[in-house]
Amino acid sequence: MPNSEIAKVIALEEHYWDSEVVEAWGPAKGKQPAEQLLEVGDKRIADMNAAGIDMQVLSLGAPAMQAFDAGTAVPLATAANDRLKSIIDTRPDRFAGFAALPTAAPEAAADELERAVKDLGFCGAMLHGLSHEQKWLDLPEFWPIYARAEALDVPIYFHPALPHPAVVGAYLKDYIQDYPEFIHAGWGFTIETATQGVRLVLSGVFDEHPGLKVILGHLGEGLPFLLWRINHAFSRGANKTTPFREIFQRQFYVTTSGNFSDPALLCTLMEMGADRVMFSVDYPYVQNHEGTEWMKTVSLSDEDLAKIYGGNAERLLKI
Ligand code: MN
Repeated sequence: MPNSEIAKVIALEEHYWDSEVVEAWGPAKGKQPAEQLLEVGDKRIADMNAAGIDMQVLSLGAPAMQAFDAGTAVPLATAANDRLKSIIDTRPDRFAGFAALPTAAPEAAADELERAVKDLGFCGAMLHGLSHEQKWLDLPEFWPIYARAEALDVPIYFHPALPHPAVVGAYLKDYIQDYPEFIHAGWGFTIETATQGVRLVLSGVFDEHPGLKVILGHLGEGLPFLLWRINHAFSRGANKTTPFREIFQRQFYVTTSGNFSDPALLCTLMEMGADRVMFSVDYPYVQNHEGTEWMKTVSLSDEDLAKIYGGNAERLLKI
């Protein structure tokens, strides 16, 4: 059996594909590890065993339900979450789940979150990039989802997806041909998701819902590195009483998904503390063994390592 000698190893940003959702997306954009995404059985477990990962919290790959209008997303999210529950039921000791939510219908998305948590036993939800019609997810129309997450005491994981087409055109397109990853993990995802993180704070959603817990991957999408400067800038002529940095440190958690860097981890720990950093891989876009081999080299106390490997996730996700 897998195991670090220190703690249960839980990985939170681990993706799979649901065939019906893939069909509804239409042709995939970019190169995708389709075979690994569609496999949720023995091969996946064997790879987790080889890398020493006890549990994957499964989530759809991007753009999940955020690609769809309400008419498509509402029934598809329910069906996909039910199928994810069946996958988890095959190995409840090894799999948990984040719900897919039909954000184009925010009240229905809130209801689906509640169903997923109460009836299916899911740990929260993952949202990917902009919602249908390129809407930012901090807009007040989406707050019913966050009210429900607060009431249920489950986190919302904000995950990257392709940047807005205007951003691709203005900022990225010149280098896409030679460097296709420029719009994905190479830079575009970071622009998109870091902006979503900043916008969530500025929107005031945490004043209205102080119990809302947000997770960002990739060691916080660069935001821990920039917190001091963002905070300093927003304090000039500020019309808000609570500093940006304080809100971020109070409401956000981050995972190590796809960012196995000692300097970035050190910075993140200095800003966020060891209670708010959680191990993740971003499987299968990044391979399991890359994450666990890196973690074995991280020089921290056993107490902090135990929190990062799985202790924080057990507490936050009630696993
Ligand atoms: Mn991911």
